[in-house]
Amino acid sequence: MKVYHIAYEQSYQSLDFHFWTGCNLQCRGCYLNYEKLDFGLLDDPVAQIAVQQRESPPQKFLSFDEVMAYVEPLKIKYAVFMGDEAALDPELPKLAWTLHQKFQSYNIILTNGRKMIDLEDIDEVIFSIKAISEDIHRDYTGHSNKIILENFAKMYRSGKKLQAETVLIPEYIDPKEVERVAKFVASVDKNITFRIDSFFEVPGCPWRSATKEEVEEAAALAKKHLNNVTCLTLDMKRLGDKAVKVF
Ligand code: SF4
Repeated sequence: MKVYHIAYEQSYQSLDFHFWTGCNLQCRGCYLNYEKLDFGLLDDPVAQIAVQQRESPPQKFLSFDEVMAYVEPLKIKYAVFMGDEAALDPELPKLAWTLHQKFQSYNIILTNGRKMIDLEDIDEVIFSIKAISEDIHRDYTGHSNKIILENFAKMYRSGKKLQAETVLIPEYIDPKEVERVAKFVASVDKNITFRIDSFFEVPGCPWRSATKEEVEEAAALAKKHLNNVTCLTLDMKRLGDKAVKVF
């Protein structure tokens, strides 16, 4: 499999599976080039990443059997598939199925949506939409957003629980662009939960961290279109225990 790291959050009985598949987007602000560990293991990931050196891709991956041997002794309520783009691992559906069978876990995937996912054993999709303006999307990710937006609507029609997420980057993916994303999400269903994340400084990127006020401004614009808007700002503290590294 393409699983290179697993972390466990005892308070929520949540297991985070980190995949490294070689993402199908090349986001300029991707922090994974600087930090590959689960944020739940780090005391202050934002401060750490700002001064980190660029890292190489992971070298060691677990087989499906090795993954299962690591997770077998744990109580699992939630399984989260994350990392770069977990959807690109052909063994993901087997892992999701097995976790459902063995633990009756609630399976969540984080995705950029460029590849349609086998949703059979996925319970919830957290779908990242980087930008609506085609020029911004191409500039930021190296690719068009056309298929991504189509896949968002397809996933919604599948009936699976779906959340949308975007990152506010000051003077680039700004509150007006976030509002465009919100409008698009509302065109699918205005009750879809929409989360706005603060961008934080990544070495080699020209953008500063977003302030709480900027995120709140974007949230106010998004709320004109959507009923459920949440924010992830940089002053938020960890809820629950610190995670532990399983692998
Ligand atoms: S989609 Fe996510 S993992 Fe892939 S390059 Fe963009 S930020 Fe990184």
